[in-house]
Amino acid sequence: MNFNGLHLKTQQHFLNQMKVKQIQVSGVQSPETARARVLIIYTGGTFGMTHDASGALIPFDFSSIVEHLPTIRNLGLAFTVFSFEKPIDSSNVSPEHWKLLADVINNNYVEHDGFVILHGTDTMAYTASALSFMLEGLNKPVILTGAQLPIIDPRSDARENLITALEIAAAKRDGCAIVPEVCIYFDYELLRGNRSKKVESMQFDAFDSGNYPALAKAGVKIDYNYGAIRKMDKRELALHTKLDSSIAILKLFPGISEQVVQSVFSNTSLKAVILETYGSGNAPTIPWLITSLEQAVKRGVIVVNVSQCPGGMVVQGKYETSKELMKAGVLSGADMTTEAALTKLMVLLGSYDAETCKRLVEQNLAGELSS
Ligand code: ASP
Repeated sequence: MNFNGLHLKTQQHFLNQMKVKQIQVSGVQSPETARARVLIIYTGGTFGMTHDASGALIPFDFSSIVEHLPTIRNLGLAFTVFSFEKPIDSSNVSPEHWKLLADVINNNYVEHDGFVILHGTDTMAYTASALSFMLEGLNKPVILTGAQLPIIDPRSDARENLITALEIAAAKRDGCAIVPEVCIYFDYELLRGNRSKKVESMQFDAFDSGNYPALAKAGVKIDYNYGAIRKMDKRELALHTKLDSSIAILKLFPGISEQVVQSVFSNTSLKAVILETYGSGNAPTIPWLITSLEQAVKRGVIVVNVSQCPGGMVVQGKYETSKELMKAGVLSGADMTTEAALTKLMVLLGSYDAETCKRLVEQNLAGELSS
């Protein structure tokens, strides 16, 4: 088969997976008597894995959630449940899936108090970051969660993660949502989505937000860190679903060659590069690197400096080794995660001209950076 044929086949494969269906979950509260209405979207991941007849792991049918988690009935909540028609491993997530999620939330926004997205952990931080920029003016909780062990496993973390995520999605104070933002709830901690990173694949504490405190800790009760949670947004919900992925991530390392850097910058369709630098935003001062960056910036490529350190921030000009970047026109990513910088650029490039993107990328739009 020729390249185009293969390409079309792959596209079709992904498009087939990109549908959602509404599913009925019996035995839960009716909307009339419930204390809150929560919409759940099941996308796949380890959370819902079960064994088929041969013992292989396959995604479970989400309508059987009450069988796996009977206590869901006692929450006093009404649920609307959507599931990806074909649940995915989150390594297969794409901006098309993010559009689907944003559309489901937008289409059902008024009737629900909060939203819970069940998602694989591998790319959960990317999805949470993307949604935080796509759902501008969000005033209700969108809580992503998942599990390190499938719900059918006796030691699974799926049950606690889901139950507490639902509680947080429904939580109100003085009639308003306590957490009106996109978050990740995992292993007893609520983190801002666009500050989170997956940091662990074997233990239960899979996520961390090195540059921002937890928004809540769940113990005997859920302790909200009110000072750290975003204030209610005065704006109406506005969707940004046009994403542009003409972006590359270039991670520096000692010994990186000119050819490798050139192979990235010679791509003429490139609109932005996230430069992963050392420490507080430092890079080697080798002339060919600085020249490549200067030339790319002159050509209109937006270059954003993000640190390889999980904590701390980029301060261009602090050391000689970052002054050069600043002179070359590289923008500071401050304390943004790579996941936040990438998805923010996708959303900005999809909506605005290059000058506006340059201005906005350094600004705090959804709590993703400290100014
Ligand atoms: N590979 C899985 C996923 O991200 C891992 C998980 O769910 O924890 O979908």
